[in-house]
Amino acid sequence: MEEASQMIGVFQVLPKLVVFDLDHTLWPFYCECRSKNDTPSLFPHSRGILSALKNKGIDAAIASKSPTPHIATTFLDKLGIASMFVAQEIFYSSTHKTDHFQRIQSKTSVSYNSMLFFDDDNNNIKEISKLGVTSILVRNGVNLGVFREGLTKFSQNWDASKNKQKRRK
Ligand SMILES: [Mg+2]
Repeated sequence: MEEASQMIGVFQVLPKLVVFDLDHTLWPFYCECRSKNDTPSLFPHSRGILSALKNKGIDAAIASKSPTPHIATTFLDKLGIASMFVAQEIFYSSTHKTDHFQRIQSKTSVSYNSMLFFDDDNNNIKEISKLGVTSILVRNGVNLGVFREGLTKFSQNWDASKNKQKRRK
């Protein structure tokens, strides 16, 4: 958590909400292949990153297309992290999570360009980027490396959109 907090401290512009996929992003498995009775585990850096966000007052949310939401929510409870998310959108959908993000947006009132999103499926990344959300592909789960990449890309996108606005005036 210490390292993730220090990393957040470096950036002047920060997202208001960080949205995470579950399977192969926060945890290293597909929960549809597991039993409710299993003891789940997270990727090594996931918990520290979630705690650091909470400490810095940055909200977190979940956008998952898991076909077994009951297993996902059981695992979130077992891991003791269920209360760390202001929105948990866990349902199967034929879209690339645009309906998940619409729900998250209406629940939190955070604008898309103030959100940062992590997912291991490039189709979701492409689609959600189009909404204006800074979206980062993860290959080995959420870790400090992709977290830094996300914060960096977020502030670059933010600066770029502010410059655009200035030019328009
Ligand atoms: Mg996934």
